[in-house]
Amino acid sequence: MSLNHALQVGDSLCARVLSVPCSKRLLDIQPDLVSITGAYAVLNEQGQYLGLVNSREVALFPNRIFADLITRRQPPPLSADTPLEVALTIFNHAKVDFLAVLDDQGQYCGTISRFSLFNALLNHEHQLLLEKSALVDRLIAELSHHKIAETVFNATSEGIMVTDENSVILKVNPAFSNTTGYSAEEAIGQTPHLLSSGKQDKAFYQEMWCSITTRNQWQGEIWNRRKSGEIYPEWLTINRIRTPEENGIRYVGVFSDISLHKELENTLQRLAYYDSLTGLPNRTLLRNRLDFLITNRKHDESNSKIALVFIDLDNFKYINDALGHQIGDAVLIEVGKRLRDAMCESDTVARFGGDEFAALIAQYESETSLARCVRKIFDHLNGHILIEGHEVFVSVSIGVAQYPQDASDCDGLLQLADIAMYRAKDSGREQISYYAPEMNRKVVDRLKIENALRNAFENDRFWLAWQPQVDLKTERFIGVEVLMRCSAPELDGIGPDIFIPIAEENGLIARLGEWALKKAVADALEHLLPVVDQGFRVAVNLSPVQLNKSTIDLVLPLARALMEKNLILEIEMTESVVMKDRTHAIGYLQTMAGFGIEFSIDDFGTGYSNLSRLADLPIHRLKIDQSFIQKMTDTGHRMNQMIQAIIDMGHALEIKVLAEGIETLEQKQALTALGCDEAQGYFYAKPMKLAEFRALLAKQSTSSDESPP
Ligand code: C2E
Ligand code: CA
Ligand code: CA
Repeated sequence: MSLNHALQVGDSLCARVLSVPCSKRLLDIQPDLVSITGAYAVLNEQGQYLGLVNSREVALFPNRIFADLITRRQPPPLSADTPLEVALTIFNHAKVDFLAVLDDQGQYCGTISRFSLFNALLNHEHQLLLEKSALVDRLIAELSHHKIAETVFNATSEGIMVTDENSVILKVNPAFSNTTGYSAEEAIGQTPHLLSSGKQDKAFYQEMWCSITTRNQWQGEIWNRRKSGEIYPEWLTINRIRTPEENGIRYVGVFSDISLHKELENTLQRLAYYDSLTGLPNRTLLRNRLDFLITNRKHDESNSKIALVFIDLDNFKYINDALGHQIGDAVLIEVGKRLRDAMCESDTVARFGGDEFAALIAQYESETSLARCVRKIFDHLNGHILIEGHEVFVSVSIGVAQYPQDASDCDGLLQLADIAMYRAKDSGREQISYYAPEMNRKVVDRLKIENALRNAFENDRFWLAWQPQVDLKTERFIGVEVLMRCSAPELDGIGPDIFIPIAEENGLIARLGEWALKKAVADALEHLLPVVDQGFRVAVNLSPVQLNKSTIDLVLPLARALMEKNLILEIEMTESVVMKDRTHAIGYLQTMAGFGIEFSIDDFGTGYSNLSRLADLPIHRLKIDQSFIQKMTDTGHRMNQMIQAIIDMGHALEIKVLAEGIETLEQKQALTALGCDEAQGYFYAKPMKLAEFRALLAKQSTSSDESPP
């Protein structure tokens, strides 16, 4: 697409972006500013640009400082002199709503959106058209003095046609012939009807003539037909002038072909309001429609309701990772189609980006009919999709919020549908969840936990619990899993199963995880050496977020320090981390394994496993998830076979198998019979304080040959 003028992104800044200091939170910003803001540009203390944050993320975490909300992957800022075409291409590729702009000193000067580009272009077009009208006025001044400047007439790129008072064409210029295809000979003597496209109705021409007779001028857009038959839009100015000598009337029509501009306008419209992959409306258009519906609904008495449905694919990342982006894109297109099929014509279906879709149900009678409609979406989207010979299983989580009962404005509804959707994800995915006020309370609780965690960390309120692992053959303690605990009173009753995921999301896990690793190793070296066997393992849980270069640098010296005293550092990670096809992750694991660090796969059996990869990775131990062990006694035979299969597979790959969460003697005996190597669970010991653990180990070392632990 050629934009044929030199507009730059610096001319197209968007009014709806607020710049904010990185250390501030949403709660610190004036509410009236917040309500018009589409995004926030985060600046450091020196006023330098750090990154952009979408207002939606900010709304979900009003208590977090802006610096922590900057998403890692966003395109770099553009310089103010970047041409608009370049910016449009970046928008298309990067799938973002906003891009930051820096001036030639590298200072932040604003942000653009597709919409602001679109606006700037339309304004620019408008300016061009106004300039053209000024040119026409000058020409007319000359004409009326009866000295038509032949050179201007012939050279201008606007088509010009002069008619007498009966609309018979007297004169046309070369640009007229270029645009219409009619030569001067063909046109002279005809009337402008020659060019009529039939697209304008009678009323249109009446209005036009009315303006010419009363104001001597008409200006506007009109569709005409070329000699070739092609219909095209032109911007036309008609002036009525008197010729002093002959005392007659002349009509002078000056026009320019604006088909290019029209095309541009359409393209921009598409870019600004539609998603390029699926062709569905985007977030902006859905918002506009929702806003429009709500405004109208407030004025009519119908009391009918509006529902906003958020839809998120549950396993899209796996599809993308495993089958590649091309298949991923095809899945999104198909989901878009199915969603469209599930809805009425009058409802809006939109793609919000990534694997997020939304549907706007403009009207429904009762809760039951809404439920039926949402169920239909759910059933249409869940299931198998066949793409290029791959059978892909898709499942979705759905969140629903309703106007007016849940929220009375557009932003509120968007936010609550999002909260409901997250709720559906939290309660196990592949669910529908309707917004309920208590969910908001959950969000608030979460914010409280988040704050409490930060405080607890700063005030040194974390400690480690130690839970032994036992060799099922010798019944000796051969290792320990170190588990995090928090003693802050605000977090009473909140265990790591709740606070670790929150710390992972807000980034605290990096420091918390580092503390746990260092503390575990230091404590083991200081307190456990006299009471443990050679080769005793200290197992620490590593969050997926921690699998990066700086953690590796931290871990290697710790592992070495343990090894010098004949202890082994073990790292527990869940399946998804290890199985993901990420070459750098494998690299990290291999580097660490090379230093004698051992790896166990935690909660084995509950995640996504690519078993063929298991053989390629430096894995030393599978920890069968406790849920399997608990079901052993219940369902008996089938679960036992499953566990047997895991054990056999592990042994075939020379990987040890540990059973987690053993609570009873029966479980222990059954697992021993199945050939399981090791165990951990309340049956042996609960996680305990270091001093207790040391005492427990000491008892074992003094009574080595006596009864089992
Ligand atoms: P996990 O790694 O699967 O840890 C085992 C969990 O099972 C522990 O819960 C432990 O107390 C519990 N458990 C052990 N034996 C039994 C049993 O016989 N019956 C039952 N019902 N439960 C048993 P905890 O300590 O609440 O930890 C929960 C999760 O939090 C851990 O699951 C782990 O994913 C995470 N976590 C704990 N500490 C850390 C840490 O330092 N770093 C990271 N990244 N995650 C941690
Ligand atoms: Ca673990
Ligand atoms: Ca586990």
